[in-house]
Amino acid sequence: MAGDDPKEILFLCALQNAVKHGGIPQSGAVIGMVMGAHPELRSRAKEVSAFVKEAIADVAALSPEERVKTLQTRAPVMFAALSEKHEHKKVLPDLEGAENGVVMRFAPNPSGPLHIGHARAAALNDAYVKQYGGRYNLRIEDTDPKRVDPEAYEMVIEDLKWLGLGITDTVTQSDRLHLYYEICSQLIGRGGAYVCTCDNEQFRELKNKKIACPCRAQSVETNFELWDKMLTHGFKEGEASVRIKTDLNNPDPAMRDFPAFRILDAPAHPKVIAHVYPLMNFSVVADDHLLGVTHVIRGKDHIANTRRQRYIYDHFGWKVPVYRHYGRMGIEGVVLSTSQMRLGINDGTYTGWDDIRLGTLRALARRGISPEAVRNAMLAIGIGDTDISFSWDNLYAENRKIVDPVANRYFFVHDPVTAQIEGMQPHTAHAMLHPGDAARGTRTLEFTGTVLIPKSEISPDVTMLRLKDLFNVKISWNGSIPSFTYAGDSLADARVAKAHIVQWLPAQDTIACTILTPEGEIAGACEPAVRSELGKVIQFERVGFVKIDAVKDSGVVAYYTHK
Ligand code: GLU
Repeated sequence: MAGDDPKEILFLCALQNAVKHGGIPQSGAVIGMVMGAHPELRSRAKEVSAFVKEAIADVAALSPEERVKTLQTRAPVMFAALSEKHEHKKVLPDLEGAENGVVMRFAPNPSGPLHIGHARAAALNDAYVKQYGGRYNLRIEDTDPKRVDPEAYEMVIEDLKWLGLGITDTVTQSDRLHLYYEICSQLIGRGGAYVCTCDNEQFRELKNKKIACPCRAQSVETNFELWDKMLTHGFKEGEASVRIKTDLNNPDPAMRDFPAFRILDAPAHPKVIAHVYPLMNFSVVADDHLLGVTHVIRGKDHIANTRRQRYIYDHFGWKVPVYRHYGRMGIEGVVLSTSQMRLGINDGTYTGWDDIRLGTLRALARRGISPEAVRNAMLAIGIGDTDISFSWDNLYAENRKIVDPVANRYFFVHDPVTAQIEGMQPHTAHAMLHPGDAARGTRTLEFTGTVLIPKSEISPDVTMLRLKDLFNVKISWNGSIPSFTYAGDSLADARVAKAHIVQWLPAQDTIACTILTPEGEIAGACEPAVRSELGKVIQFERVGFVKIDAVKDSGVVAYYTHK
């Protein structure tokens, strides 16, 4: 980052200009850029101008490839601003210091697939990168081997692909342990961290009394020796840790000299052979710094971590990212706990990670919720710090906006009964595939005299029905036995008679259809043409939107999406 050194700013602006235009910039252009981006330097114009020639010469000395590389590593945001299209889609409140682009990250733990709770951080950070331009890091945080599911690496990537985010870079923390070790050594060297060999209980007692443990006063040399001993397996699990020096008088005991590294012998990590692992607060700061993260949007549950993390920034004098902490979001009606989901999958309660009773993104996908709807629902929730409960209705409303214009319409008859209709000749009926889009054409349904209609629509108090896109039917009752007669085509008559408009099927031409809902199955029959909609969301009018999940010889299986 440029910081506020005018020489560095001049060099980076000249470099960005050279990378952008492929030549050596003029002094005037560079000074103009510097003054535009750094108005605070306008009062030092003379001084700035004095350095400009030197900055341009430094850029000219680099090869074109070196220029790109240098800009990329020394000023990732300026580099990103060149390559990204700014969509300027302002949907969220402004972030301070974001005008020249941002570097943001989504940092999930690979403990299972992503669920609707993760979607908030993922979508909000994404939207800001789109709003300001910049880079979006996916950082897989797998430094706690107890919370790693080897299959989750793949699942997280697939889930994010589905969600449609603009991820530009991906890193996995277990590939970066050497970087954390290196930064830890630097911190020990600065006297900002120490190796603590106290028994945990003993440390806690002292800490609660705001008393330093004996290790805190060790010399830097001793700390280096002990750190080396940690890394070379000289200590066993629980025998040593690295602690960050914070403020022992901090009113919150959890802030006092919190741990940064620990030793774990088991379980083995699925990706690396390791003995010493960084704890989240350390690896998060190291990476936010190394990756040039400018802004962090995360939940309020991380506020205490943010406080801890600031101590590390302060020890190094690093620039702290801009943080925004959004409120808690209660999500009801689905299972979200990874351990509960895993247990249920293993014991056969759930069919898999996409079982529709779970709150995973893959379960939403299976039910026919579109990724765009999830993103829009999350943006509508926004980054406010008030605690809220997640509204499924809002998600469904967002999804309806997306599926309604595209979903073809078909007839589904729940719990069908056969009705023989007198007074009308066999003929071909036509029903529109989509009422708002005549160009899509029609389905044909052969009326042969016998139809299937939903059992629930027929009871002795019903004397007229309208078969959708067909005609009206009069029902006469002989005791409990109904008989059905053609009663004209007029929709107006049906309205006057307050006849229900029901879906129907030619009795000779149907397939079985089971709609799966979280509450259970709805069994019925549907048009055979539904077979061609595998994997798509369609609408069974009056029933709701469904996603066709499977087409079998015995019929189709659909998942209920929403009304
Ligand atoms: N991986 C952690 C989490 O998912 C850290 C995220 C963060 O720092 O925002 O909770």
